[in-house]
Amino acid sequence: MPETTEKYDLLVVGAGAAGCTAALKAARSGLKTLLAERAPGPGVHVQPKLDITQDENIKKIIKETGVKTRGRSNKSMWLSRSHSLQLTSRIHDLFILRGKHPDSYESQLSQKALDAGCELSFNTSLGVVQISRDGFESAVLISEDGSRRMVKPEFVIAADGISSHVLSSCFPHLQEKRQTEFVGAGAMLENATTIHGGVTHVFFDSKLLPGGYFYLCRFKKNNAVAAAALPVHKLGAHSVEHYFKQFTQSHPILRQLFKKATLINYFAGGSHAARLDKHYHKNILLTGDAGRLLDPLLGYGVNHAIHSGYWAAAAIAEASAEEEAAGLYERKLASDLLPGMREGARARKALDSMTNNDFDSIIRFLNHVSSKADLEKFLEDPISHPIPLLESLSRHPTTLLLLRHLYKVF
Ligand SMILES: Cc1cc2nc3c(=O)[nH]c(=O)nc-3n(C[C@H](O)[C@H](O)[C@H](O)COP(=O)(O)OP(=O)(O)OC[C@H]3O[C@@H](n4cnc5c(N)ncnc54)[C@H](O)[C@@H]3O)c2cc1C
Repeated sequence: MPETTEKYDLLVVGAGAAGCTAALKAARSGLKTLLAERAPGPGVHVQPKLDITQDENIKKIIKETGVKTRGRSNKSMWLSRSHSLQLTSRIHDLFILRGKHPDSYESQLSQKALDAGCELSFNTSLGVVQISRDGFESAVLISEDGSRRMVKPEFVIAADGISSHVLSSCFPHLQEKRQTEFVGAGAMLENATTIHGGVTHVFFDSKLLPGGYFYLCRFKKNNAVAAAALPVHKLGAHSVEHYFKQFTQSHPILRQLFKKATLINYFAGGSHAARLDKHYHKNILLTGDAGRLLDPLLGYGVNHAIHSGYWAAAAIAEASAEEEAAGLYERKLASDLLPGMREGARARKALDSMTNNDFDSIIRFLNHVSSKADLEKFLEDPISHPIPLLESLSRHPTTLLLLRHLYKVF
């Protein structure tokens, strides 16, 4: 056991999207903060990839942190087997680079957190944790060289991803109701000149990607990202890499892209969305994937990770007592994130049940609406557009719910 105990206002465990955002916000709010990360450097835990997220609510945080993103776009193309729809939306896609690149989200934010006075400790895992009736008491942090230090923080933000050690060691009685488990595989490419820049392509195909989707976009000069995501309950005997390859070989846009472009790297991984009965225990707050805060329809989690990391740190900085911080944080999740997750879970049931005929008919229907009315206004406020509303309800009872959820993301 280490002989001395170091005191902190806040220990953040995990330097991913949630942890770096939390550490920066906390350090800038004057909290004595330690950010402990198991990997040897920022972003090393994840293969280089581009995450797409909607900028609707997040742009304020992005502006405040000063982080540079890889651009944004408000054009998308939705494709079924036989039809396509072009959509220009008021909601932009924001492209966020992940991984160990010096411009990745984690690299930029951890440097900013350091500049703001946060202590960073890489190659550091959370070891034995001491819990009492009052919550988190202390923990031993173990470095790769075997050295140990004992820390005693006032608060802990768990940002250690889907296999969260904080969740498993500090929340033994937490109720977790799994919503959707996802796997994804994709590729980063350069010289992607065969596709238009700034258009997010989203493909739906119930045979080639059951319950899933494929996205493709070109960002910054000629770089591109292409990825497939599927819910695990639809995988069958194959791996997600199999579905990814199969799709890239069967669709003409992708066949051409992969023939001409240069591969930078492949990436793959998984996560799951779940409903927790709460996202805190006394002085410990769960954020990002550690809090299962992902969209149950698409598996998108970056937006949720950035928001929850920011709100957790803001609640700790603002509150005068620990219960107050936890309450502030949980209320923010309940008002701004959890309703969207519930909607995503209902939309997931709709996507699971759709066939290629359904997708074709939906895209035809959306083209039909956009020839008569403003499609975006209809999706935002269907009640004011009774004719397309009735038409959509008569197709598939949950079509509209699914479309409205997709529209906010793509
Ligand atoms: C293939 C794939 C594609 C995806 N695409 C998108 C997308 O396009 N858009 C989108 O919004 N989302 C996407 N996601 C989901 C998104 O990547 C995650 O939701 C997001 O990264 C969660 O961020 P986080 O900070 O909570 O966790 P993570 O990014 O997983 O960070 C957790 C950190 O904690 C560290 N850690 C773990 N255990 C410990 C420990 N015991 N001690 C110290 N440190 C520890 C890890 O090393 C890591 O650095 C995708 C996911 C996958 C797998």
